[in-house]
Amino acid sequence: KSKAELKGSATFYNYQLNEQIQYKYLLEEELRRALDNEEIFLLYQPQIDTKTQQLIAVEALARWEHPKLGSISPDDFICIAEEIGIIKEIGLFVFRQVCTDILSVSPAGKNAINVSINISPKQLMSPDFIDLITQATDEIGIDRHRITLEITENVMLNELEKTYDILTELKKRSFCISLDDFGTGYSSLSYLNMLPFDEVKIDRCFVNNITISKQSKALIKSILAISDAYGMITVAEGVEKKEQLTMLHSLGCNLIQGYYFDKPLTLSTLHNTYLKQ
Ligand code: C2E
Ligand code: MG
Ligand code: MG
Ligand code: MG
Repeated sequence: KSKAELKGSATFYNYQLNEQIQYKYLLEEELRRALDNEEIFLLYQPQIDTKTQQLIAVEALARWEHPKLGSISPDDFICIAEEIGIIKEIGLFVFRQVCTDILSVSPAGKNAINVSINISPKQLMSPDFIDLITQATDEIGIDRHRITLEITENVMLNELEKTYDILTELKKRSFCISLDDFGTGYSSLSYLNMLPFDEVKIDRCFVNNITISKQSKALIKSILAISDAYGMITVAEGVEKKEQLTMLHSLGCNLIQGYYFDKPLTLSTLHNTYLKQ
């Protein structure tokens, strides 16, 4: 039967479901090979100082470009990597690649930029995570204070004490910690002082609405006030419009990340656009 003939019948839904499952199996198998095949690489999105408009840091964003299936979103493949137990390998590959890349375009010195790396919950919780990344920075020779680890709040809820211990140890070793996607999920302003964050990233959905919704603006205002009181840096994600930038500037948000300034860039474009003397 053709897809059209099947449509509307229960069989069609089974057929669709089956296709989805098959596709997932395929992705799982392909992901196991992706690292060896050099299909995973990194892009870097600028984070700009709201006041001076200078490049301060970049966020590393992983990409998977499959030769036949095309590009697969990190939201999808990171999740699969966690499920099939290869997040440790992918995470460490990403970490090492980012350190090497950033050091090559921005050596130590007073103009050195910082870099943020996303860390998935399972990766953060794996027993040798801290030692592995400490060893990697020593080997590559990048100062750890230049590296910010971005974690999302779903990590902390279940295992607050364990998370506290891990983050405290990471800070002892000079890594900075950022709370990503703040305002989504189960977040509450009271989490901000339960764990030792250096930075808070305000989620795109609030930034999107800042100029049209009073509630979003009020929420952003209170996040900024609290972060400021705790001495944390604030980053707005997903800034696409000048009016959003203007408002975030007037409210005192420290850093801006979003298509308004730049999309995620290849290392060489980052270098040519921002870092060449
Ligand atoms: P995230 O960490 O919240 O990253 C921000 C996402 O917003 C990125 O999507 C970025 O490309 C996108 N973005 C930036 N500016 C704008 C804008 O102005 N408008 C819009 N509409 N989008 C914007 P991306 O690259 O698809 O990554 C999605 C998520 O995948 C990330 O969200 C992060 O949670 C995860 N991810 C990406 N790379 C890695 C990685 O290396 N490791 C781990 N564990 N997760 C990663
Ligand atoms: Mg992030
Ligand atoms: Mg985010
Ligand atoms: Mg996200």
